[in-house]
Amino acid sequence: NAVRLQAIKDVEAYVPPAVSFIDAETPGEVFGENVFNKVVMQKRLPKSVYKSVIATIEHGEPLDPMVADAVASAMKDWALEKGATHYAHVFYPLTGLTAEKHDSFLEPVSDGSALAEFAGKTLIQGEPDASSFPNGGLRNTFEARGYTGWDVTSPAYVLENPNGNTLCIPTVFVSMTGEALDHKTPLLRSQQSMGLHAQRILKLFGHENPDNVVSFCGPEQEYFLVDRHFFLARPDLLNSGRTLFGSKPPKGQEFDDHYFGAIPERVLGFMMDTERELFKLGIPAKTRHNEVAPGQFEIAPMFERGNIAADHQQLLMTTFKTIAKKHGMEILFHEKPFEGVNGSGKHVNFSLGNATQGNLLLPGDNPHDNAQFLVFCAAVIRAVHKYGGLLRASVASATNDHRLGANEAPPAIISIFLGDQLADVFEQIAKGAATSSKGKGTMIIGADTLPQLPTDPGDRNRTSPFAFTGNRFEFRAPGSMQTVSGPMVIINTIMAEALDYIATDLEAAVEAGTEFDTAVQNLLTEIITEHGAVVFNGDGYSDNWQVEAASRGLPNLRTTLDALPELVSDSAMELFAKYKVFNHREMHSRYEIGLEQYALTIGVEARLTMEMGSTLILPAAVRYQTEVAQNIGALKIAGVEADPAPLEEVTAPLTALRTALATLKAALAEDAAEDAYAEAKHAKESLLPAMAAVRAAADVLEDIVADDLWPLPTYQEMLFIL
Ligand code: ADP
Ligand code: MG
Repeated sequence: NAVRLQAIKDVEAYVPPAVSFIDAETPGEVFGENVFNKVVMQKRLPKSVYKSVIATIEHGEPLDPMVADAVASAMKDWALEKGATHYAHVFYPLTGLTAEKHDSFLEPVSDGSALAEFAGKTLIQGEPDASSFPNGGLRNTFEARGYTGWDVTSPAYVLENPNGNTLCIPTVFVSMTGEALDHKTPLLRSQQSMGLHAQRILKLFGHENPDNVVSFCGPEQEYFLVDRHFFLARPDLLNSGRTLFGSKPPKGQEFDDHYFGAIPERVLGFMMDTERELFKLGIPAKTRHNEVAPGQFEIAPMFERGNIAADHQQLLMTTFKTIAKKHGMEILFHEKPFEGVNGSGKHVNFSLGNATQGNLLLPGDNPHDNAQFLVFCAAVIRAVHKYGGLLRASVASATNDHRLGANEAPPAIISIFLGDQLADVFEQIAKGAATSSKGKGTMIIGADTLPQLPTDPGDRNRTSPFAFTGNRFEFRAPGSMQTVSGPMVIINTIMAEALDYIATDLEAAVEAGTEFDTAVQNLLTEIITEHGAVVFNGDGYSDNWQVEAASRGLPNLRTTLDALPELVSDSAMELFAKYKVFNHREMHSRYEIGLEQYALTIGVEARLTMEMGSTLILPAAVRYQTEVAQNIGALKIAGVEADPAPLEEVTAPLTALRTALATLKAALAEDAAEDAYAEAKHAKESLLPAMAAVRAAADVLEDIVADDLWPLPTYQEMLFIL
């Protein structure tokens, strides 16, 4: 087949661009070069304005609108010096992508010339057309406007482009009535709620004026790289991000020689190039290494405050895409681009803390600090147990369904791994309260110190979806394509509820005259007794766990369709309203959009399967069948006895392919369902099985049809030629 064979030739002939890093720039000089950060602000803003902005950024004070003009003007001058011609409000609509509305700095003046203008009000608010973004019924068609609003806490930056640079301003995106149409709005809201209740607890522990508490997020991004020639020769990769066909390569990941092996030179060039770009944007890219599968890699930027990490994560993904192209490669963020090959996740490392008390999930080395650490851990235990379904829903998508629970990623059951030592501590606390005198294997709050908790990564349980890793929890279920905002919103909100509960309980106990340490002990005992069922230190991939989890009453929401309804359960609606993260309408809209996106994704894949199956694979198989038939005919004429088996071998899967395509066609033609749920259900129950049948027949054919007739680059070619 011409297209595929040409792609292979082109890959072989490809010369990657030269990248030289042996120049004058050191990472320290480059870092944050294109960011309107504190250093720049301090230099360029009047002192009072600078102080006011910092109060908002660092201590969560409301933004003083009076300073906007001054900031805007300084920002504009700085951006113009950096070669910016335009500015853009950057926002994060519910498609999961990044959107930008660009405007020129130049505004015409009456004498016909143009002046570079950028007023405070333009910095603070924009008005993009919202009609092209999903809104789940939040916006009437006659009110297509949406509003973007400056997130002062996330720094503006200049994005370089050969055609002119752009000043980018991270913003929220809301409807005319102030309802959230994006990922950032609820993230900021949930952060605020969580911080408030965390502060109450810090006060109980005797910290006079605790600083604003925020959540931190360290995302680990996994991805695949394929040569662009192959990518372009695969309509499925191009249009759906994953291969809808492809037989498993003879050499799979069972060799395991790729993981932490040497990074291929071409990939290393790409990584260095991206890191330099990320550094300029102030994104602290840190570790890089090969992942489990061939062609798979990971980057883990240093953790940052939740909303900044989320913005940076989005920016990282777009930067990666651009630079991969420059290096003749395509980056695949899909959770499962290749069936039968390890998928990609985006682990969300979560902690909370502030400037005065530091990381609140860091174990202390005296009994008082221990107690505080244990209270915050207990909050996580309660939160995850009570709202595991919501955590599951936060990572639900058509694409992540291919990965979760597939023996390579955490199961769909949400449990917590504490490690033996910490789990033991909680057990001892329960006992200590029961006996109220210190016996063997008991722990008394205020008297005992913690045992040394291991922080060695080698020691960690990698089968747990929510694992304590020494000073943070690592949520491993999020998919590689997702924004970290979704999971972070849920974590913040369920933590807000747990911290609120704990603070209220302790405040009341202290008020009633209970000694503080005793109150803490009682509370910890209660939480571990009521919510300890969520703690599981065993093998999350094992079949036993499925059974045991059921007996513990933990939900096992296998697919997106099982998980999404969690968002609109009574308890969830109440939770989100109480902590002012989503009102009922907003929550319903998210649910609707989740279903729509699910159906949309599968719909596209189904049509692609249909098209590729009928126009690429079927013809190739028919040609091969004809060749075999002609060969048999020729042999007969030559008087040689012909074996009919090769003809039967290709004919059987060919017939299966025709039948499967007919079934898929019928499923695609079925009447549009009446609501979003029915549509999603149709996608899951009719389209997915029909696609699977087409693929099964096609993959059999791939192993039979003559190589020169096969139209699509194979797994072997895509995964191993880099
Ligand atoms: P591993 O692969 O062993 O899980 P990595 O080094 O790949 O570890 O990634 C760890 C991630 O956790 C990094 O993004 C790191 O910045 C982040 N992290 C470290 N400490 C914290 C913390 N206190 N809170 C949140 N994230 C953290
Ligand atoms: Mg990890």
